[in-house]
Amino acid sequence: MQFGDLGLMEPLLKALQDVGYRTPSPIQEKAIPPVLQRRDLLGCAQTGTGKTAAFALPLLQLLEQNKSKGKKRPIRVLVLTPTRELAAQIQECFEEYGKYLPHRSVVIFGGVGQQPQVDALRKGCDILVATPGRLLDLCGQGHISLQELEYFVLDEADRMLDMGFIPDIKRIVAHLPHKQDRQTLLFSATLEDSILRLASGWLVDPIIMESEPEKMVSDDIEQTFYSVLREEKLALTLHILNNEEYERVIIFGNRKDVNLRLQHDLERFGFRVPVLSRDIPQDKRIKILEKFRKGIPSDLTVHFKD
Ligand code: AMP
Repeated sequence: MQFGDLGLMEPLLKALQDVGYRTPSPIQEKAIPPVLQRRDLLGCAQTGTGKTAAFALPLLQLLEQNKSKGKKRPIRVLVLTPTRELAAQIQECFEEYGKYLPHRSVVIFGGVGQQPQVDALRKGCDILVATPGRLLDLCGQGHISLQELEYFVLDEADRMLDMGFIPDIKRIVAHLPHKQDRQTLLFSATLEDSILRLASGWLVDPIIMESEPEKMVSDDIEQTFYSVLREEKLALTLHILNNEEYERVIIFGNRKDVNLRLQHDLERFGFRVPVLSRDIPQDKRIKILEKFRKGIPSDLTVHFKD
């Protein structure tokens, strides 16, 4: 199966070639044709399966095929996602896949000043990627109108539920055109009862994709488990860092005090160890990640799962 077989238009196929995707992932094969036919979709899929392209590609095509009539640029696509990092990644995907199309996308999330986002919104955008809190704030202040929305994507619905976002999302849905007058795509890693209940309220006769296709990344990741005593952890970590040719390493940990000590210890051994955690301002986190992506040798990031 090729991307061309899914009915995607030339500017998208060209962008996919640039980005180096050769064949569609299982979820893309399954989702793209019904989304192009304007069906609602309930997709059971995790991050890493290629689900962003599974909704971004057909939505870009639908925007292009059904151009808006007025001179003003109303928001036509809304993607809601639980975290700032995911929101930024999804918007990057829209930009990347839509680079040969004229549509503009904007991303908004909390934890940073709102003015640059308000300025970007003022210029007009077809696609808005948002986390729920900031979206509600800016709607409340009158900076955003969703009345002409045509396509609504709810990403990682199960995480939204876990993170307590559902009341916010219900308030957002109240701002949208009726479910009969929009196309809705809901993605969740699980299809438990609570998700199915939400879906039955927000979707119309959806296509349901239940099987969870294999993750795109699984072939590249080797997993190893070491059972060690607490006092051996530092020595093992140093052994791994010093003996393998890793350029960049992320360490995930679940307790902040222990991880702070690890950061301190590793810096004593000459590693640069910036820290990502919830209490660090978002703009600083973005800068740390950007530097990390660019690949400064021996740079190490400790990520706190808090
Ligand atoms: P996602 O599940 O959307 O977060 O995508 C996971 C990763 O797979 C991202 O790095 C994508 O750039 C990549 N990806 C998505 N679709 C394809 C594809 N058809 N071929 C190769 N890589 C892909």
